Amino acid sequence: MPTSINPATGDVIEEFAEHTDQDIDRALANADSAFRDWRNTAYSRRAEVLLRAADELERRKDELARIATREMGKRLKESVAEVEKCATACRYYAEEGEKLLADDHRAGPATKNFVAYLPIGPVLAVMPWNFPYWQCFRFAAPAIMAGNVGILKHASNVSQCALEIEKIFLDADAPEGVFQTLLISSGKVERILKDERVRAATLTGSEGAGSAVAATAGSQIKTTVLELGGSDPFIVMPSADIGKAVDVGVTARMQNSGQSCIAAKRFIVHEDVYDDYLGRYQDKVEAIKLGDPMADDTGMGPLAMKAGVDDIADQIARSTKAGAKLVTGGSAPEGPGYFFQPSILADVPEAAPAYREELFGPCAIFFKVRTIDDAIALANDSEFGLGGSVWTNEAKEQERFVRDLDQGGTHINRMTASDSRLPFGGVKKSGYGRELSHEGIHAFMNAKTVTVD
Ligand code: NAP
Repeated sequence: MPTSINPATGDVIEEFAEHTDQDIDRALANADSAFRDWRNTAYSRRAEVLLRAADELERRKDELARIATREMGKRLKESVAEVEKCATACRYYAEEGEKLLADDHRAGPATKNFVAYLPIGPVLAVMPWNFPYWQCFRFAAPAIMAGNVGILKHASNVSQCALEIEKIFLDADAPEGVFQTLLISSGKVERILKDERVRAATLTGSEGAGSAVAATAGSQIKTTVLELGGSDPFIVMPSADIGKAVDVGVTARMQNSGQSCIAAKRFIVHEDVYDDYLGRYQDKVEAIKLGDPMADDTGMGPLAMKAGVDDIADQIARSTKAGAKLVTGGSAPEGPGYFFQPSILADVPEAAPAYREELFGPCAIFFKVRTIDDAIALANDSEFGLGGSVWTNEAKEQERFVRDLDQGGTHINRMTASDSRLPFGGVKKSGYGRELSHEGIHAFMNAKTVTVD
């Protein structure tokens, strides 16, 4: 049964009855019939829905933010910023969508040769709880603008957010069936994906969930976009602005209580600045105030789930046993709620779990390197390849990092963050395909070749 628990207290907020098989069938039929109309609507009509959705998000942002904070524990300020970002994405696609999807005229054998971009149909979106609005809107806004329709299976701990998203689109005058939420367990995903009315799937989440969904989709010859885990490097070279790299580095690791796919997880610091950087970083981490995520002066709220606390505690314990040094933090404070101390591990040997596993909680891992070659080799020694942040003011070094880091995004002298105007996604086990921008809106389109004489 999908259950919402307030991670700041451990109290159950609400339990939800799962949607039944009949509900699922009705939703699929609605999606199918909505798509037949929606694909033929003018871009201006789709843009109107997205602009109204943006207005709704902005009008209700405090209320929506409170819902997210109560269900998954991120600080209220972070929830408000997330809702605002969703509104920005809706406006971006409302304004740019038609241009992004315009016919693409090419040279060819006929008098007129072009590629027409046509929507493919209902897309299943399987989404995680860590950015409970943003992950959904970054899929939904381009999909709806493109003339596709969406069915959301959200994480089982954020059902209130999931229902709010459906309501926002209905209140924005999207026809019934254009965006629907199903409260279902992950066991029901296979059946939905195998239904011939569903044409594609997008999943943001863990490697296990991604490979399960991609395997089913593959067996049905359906396209997928996968946004999976990451263990992003944050590389600091001697020419960097160290003060800024410390401030941004702490935010990049600790925001959302460390539960972000693109969090800076591995700090790879040149030996010339290592002690200075680590010392300043530790001071800032130790000053973070854990507490009520609704309170203005809280620096970090709880993790979303008890399992998340157990996992990070276990990864740190196994890593110190394997020889890593615990610089600060490392345990859960006494008392209710799923809190964990902001932590730092250093001198992490290759055999330690923290070297290879994704740490989905507030723990930074530090490595000291002697050269840029060592930094690149260490950064790439990971099964993940989502993003990365590099701090250097040397032009030659910047070029090397852009060319040689094996990741979906490299960000120089700034933290990794998604933006509607730029594509987002990973390589290796961080997934494939891209969301956002031109690439994102084209992910679920039929690029139809047209020749005319
Ligand atoms: P998760 O367990 O994979 O859950 C994500 C979604 O997948 C949930 O809706 C979940 O449903 C569903 N799910 C789980 N197993 C499934 C299966 N076998 N078949 C179909 N659906 C399944 O992920 P999480 O642990 O909540 O989230 C953390 C992971 O997501 C981290 O690895 C993080 O890095 C990654 N992430 C990646 C991005 C990105 O953009 N690349 C963004 C955010 C998070 P239930 O809740 O019902 O289990």
